[in-house]
Amino acid sequence: MSTLAADRIDRLGDLARAAAREGETERARSYVRRARRVAERHRLDLPTRLKRFSCDDCDRYLIPGRNARVRTRNGHITITCDCGSHARYPYR
Ligand SMILES: [Zn+2]
Repeated sequence: MSTLAADRIDRLGDLARAAAREGETERARSYVRRARRVAERHRLDLPTRLKRFSCDDCDRYLIPGRNARVRTRNGHITITCDCGSHARYPYR
């Protein structure tokens, strides 16, 4: 396991979020893809925030209220991407 790779993934996640906030959807998506690729290559999990705020189907970085909807219900949080894909997580 490489700490360097984990740092790189964190950094790509930060860049993706910053790009998404500026409305740079495609740039954000390419950072998400790069982060995923590094994680796969090094068999690392994505950091929780990046995992939750990126779409599994279209690799968009999700900004609730802009390109994603967030609902909490029955102890779960559901994040729905503009592409229609949604993910559910237990809520604490
Ligand atoms: Zn999507």
